[in-house]
Amino acid sequence: MSATPLVSQDNSVKSELTPPLLGASVEELSFWVQQQGQPAYRGKQLHDSIYHQGVRSLADISVFPKQWRAEIAAVPIGRSTTHHRAVAADGTIKYLLGLADNQIIETVGIPSAKRLTVCVSTQVGCPMACDFCATGKGGYTRNLQKHEIVDQVLTVQEDFQQRVTHVVFMGMGEPLLNTDSVLASLKSLNQDVGIGQRSLTVSTVGIPGRIRQFAQHNLQITLAVSLHAPNQALREQLIPSARRYPLGDLLNECREYVEITKRRISFEYILLAGFNDLPEQALELAKCLRGFQSHVNLIPYNPIQEVDYKRPSRDRIQAFVNVLKQEKIAVSVRYSRGLEAHAACGQLRAGK
Ligand code: SAH
Repeated sequence: MSATPLVSQDNSVKSELTPPLLGASVEELSFWVQQQGQPAYRGKQLHDSIYHQGVRSLADISVFPKQWRAEIAAVPIGRSTTHHRAVAADGTIKYLLGLADNQIIETVGIPSAKRLTVCVSTQVGCPMACDFCATGKGGYTRNLQKHEIVDQVLTVQEDFQQRVTHVVFMGMGEPLLNTDSVLASLKSLNQDVGIGQRSLTVSTVGIPGRIRQFAQHNLQITLAVSLHAPNQALREQLIPSARRYPLGDLLNECREYVEITKRRISFEYILLAGFNDLPEQALELAKCLRGFQSHVNLIPYNPIQEVDYKRPSRDRIQAFVNVLKQEKIAVSVRYSRGLEAHAACGQLRAGK
């Protein structure tokens, strides 16, 4: 697995490290152990214990001197507690994870032939309130910190006893409302956990100015943008925040993102029967994306209780795909996994 460094390695990190320790680099940990009067190499041991041995308490690191272990036993690593685990017939596992302040988030582990993908949450709840998404129905509580994002990946990796190959930031929450923690966790997943940048995907519904800002970091990750409609009027009906963010502005920021990062954008488009799945809407979508380095991911709607949208038939979905293909738009259909465990896209609400 390639692990391209996310930023240049800086061996002179001298900033104060405030626990929880998870999300810290080997340099930060080395500095931290030296502050405790220990030799620098214990930083590497600590790093290995946290990221690769799955230790949950510093008291359990047996290579450390006994007395020091006792002294640092109460320093938090930042691991969650698994409250519930639901296994779907397709092998997808949904986890309800308890955080230090007793908040609960959802994480999903999605195994496939050669991959293990983790879908991570970035917030407790979500303030965006998209009409078709269960997460938004429960409101918003707070942003996650970087250790809480990295923990989700380690939790799934340890449970499957298999290396995580891909991470998608598509769980609860809007990642670009929590840019600092998202960037810090991307860096840690890349450099500390060892997942290649190109195997990391951040999905956003779009926050004015933030895609442009995100582009400045010039990452090689994949940006996914939740478009869901081919015009402003329809998009506003689904996504309340779109009222303050014209589609033209969103697409312009996406164009800038592609120019700066040279990475194509993945556009997500939920398919709702009779609402946004007509062939003429596919044509309108193709027009929006003409000349754009992009890929369209169609997501057939996964039912949630509160609203009565319907998933289109396979024929309707295929007809939509055909129009896009005729228009030379790269497209795939993503049938979500884990439907019956309520682990599929849009179904995450921190409940069983
Ligand atoms: N807030 C970010 C991250 C969530 S990603 C974003 O909006 O992109 C979750 C993906 O699943 C998004 O594309 C979202 O629009 C989609 N989704 C939400 N509810 C869904 C549902 N009921 N069925 C299918 N996809 C859904």
